[in-house]
Amino acid sequence: RSFVKLAGVGHRYDPNPAIPPAVTGIDLDIHRHEFVAVVGPSGCGKSTLLRMIAGLLKPSEGRVTVFGRAVDGPRDDVGIVFQKPTLLPWLNVRKNVLFPLRHKYGRYNREDEARADALLAMAGLEAFARKMPDELSGGMQQRVGIVRALLLNPDILLMDEPFSALDAMTREQIGFDLLSLWQEQPKTVLFITHSIAEAVLLADRVLVMSRRPGTVLDLIDVDLPRP
Ligand code: ADP
Ligand code: ADP
Repeated sequence: RSFVKLAGVGHRYDPNPAIPPAVTGIDLDIHRHEFVAVVGPSGCGKSTLLRMIAGLLKPSEGRVTVFGRAVDGPRDDVGIVFQKPTLLPWLNVRKNVLFPLRHKYGRYNREDEARADALLAMAGLEAFARKMPDELSGGMQQRVGIVRALLLNPDILLMDEPFSALDAMTREQIGFDLLSLWQEQPKTVLFITHSIAEAVLLADRVLVMSRRPGTVLDLIDVDLPRP
């Protein structure tokens, strides 16, 4: 059963038919606990694709379904991590990751706090739970953003170049951390990246998009054994 299904999906920002759509004719099936990476040059439509799955943007052609239902807006069971984590500067790390729960339910309980601590530990942030965001490196802040998204326990996690602002070493470190998080708590993931290495390291399948606006070049199965 597909978790996410795209059939002939496209989007054009400009109604002028002389201007090609940002994305067109995308067919994609993402299964439960599958990790799909999307690679391609800047401007090829990766973010547009992600925003349509996230329900932040309406497709102008084709159909996006999540859990068998047409997407008609953002949903709680679909988490999103953007390039910059936008942590709240006046809350410490722990309160930041708990914030969406408070925002959503008005409160959180002991169990939520325990889960937050466990996820922070898994992300190597145990010692930083009481620190303020500006006391953390960019890489750590990005990990906090990922923990925050995971804490809501989304069934699907969409990540738009979450590591692109980081240097190569930090990136590699986070990649491995993410991989271990993934193994502890399997998630269905769509992950946008510039880095083929990152894609191959993390993904089960890699969707390659072409520089020609909005077209899919290839869908590659990465058959790497998971450690
Ligand atoms: P990528 O994520 O691969 O860099 P995007 O999905 O951001 O690509 O952009 C795809 C194309 O759509 C680009 O040509 C970009 O300029 C255009 N585009 C993106 N967002 C908008 C927007 N809000 N309004 C108009 N054009 C946009
Ligand atoms: P704001 O309303 O200030 O834009 P939110 O509280 O909606 O911010 O979201 C803050 C962060 O929490 C997001 O960047 C995202 O990482 C995470 N988040 C929000 N909604 C969800 C959700 N439904 N599932 C997973 N993570 C989410």
